[in-house]
Amino acid sequence: MFNLILFGPPGSGKGTQSERLIAKYGLKHLSTGDLLRSEIARETPLGLAVKNLIAKGELVPDEIVIEMINSALDNNPKANGFLFDGFPRTNAQAEALDKLLAQKNTEIAIVLALQVSVKELVNRLLNRGLTSERSDDRDEDVIAARIAEYDKKTAPVAEHYKKYDKVKYIKGEGNIDNIFEKLCDEIDKKMKKKV
Ligand code: AMP
Repeated sequence: MFNLILFGPPGSGKGTQSERLIAKYGLKHLSTGDLLRSEIARETPLGLAVKNLIAKGELVPDEIVIEMINSALDNNPKANGFLFDGFPRTNAQAEALDKLLAQKNTEIAIVLALQVSVKELVNRLLNRGLTSERSDDRDEDVIAARIAEYDKKTAPVAEHYKKYDKVKYIKGEGNIDNIFEKLCDEIDKKMKKKV
């Protein structure tokens, strides 16, 4: 199994690059943002409970996303590996993920962290807001709240994985194909080491 975390602030290109990476490496894509939006669209009790937090740009409680990931891992016993996108977003989530993977005798192989300037993030998110269904991409205050949540609660997650020397930083600005190549280089190097 090869499990990776695609890490970075909102608008850093995690979704775009995840689509390409799962196609190339045959990984199962687990995006907590997508899972939560699907709950909201289906108007499930969970969806109704998290709707306002997401609309405000705040993180939803750790227990909720950890349980979603726990079920997703159980529901995909034959996966070659998982690509985590938008998870973990707090240190508590990172610790829970490490435990869940250890129970399945596996672990995170690599954390690929996309780096993009705040100015570029805001521009990208507002642009996406013009065409996407996502209301949290349309309001500059909500975008600012999401970036503040990232700085305060999510950026420290990289420190957690740095302790195990698992983090690789990649510049997430410029040509999408070039960024994809750099991500693949890091994955290929890591996969070779494992064999
Ligand atoms: P995303 O699609 O990853 O940008 O996530 C959209 C929103 O869903 C975030 O702004 C949070 O409100 C919520 N969310 C997604 N993933 C998580 C997570 N791992 N922990 C807490 N909240 C999350």
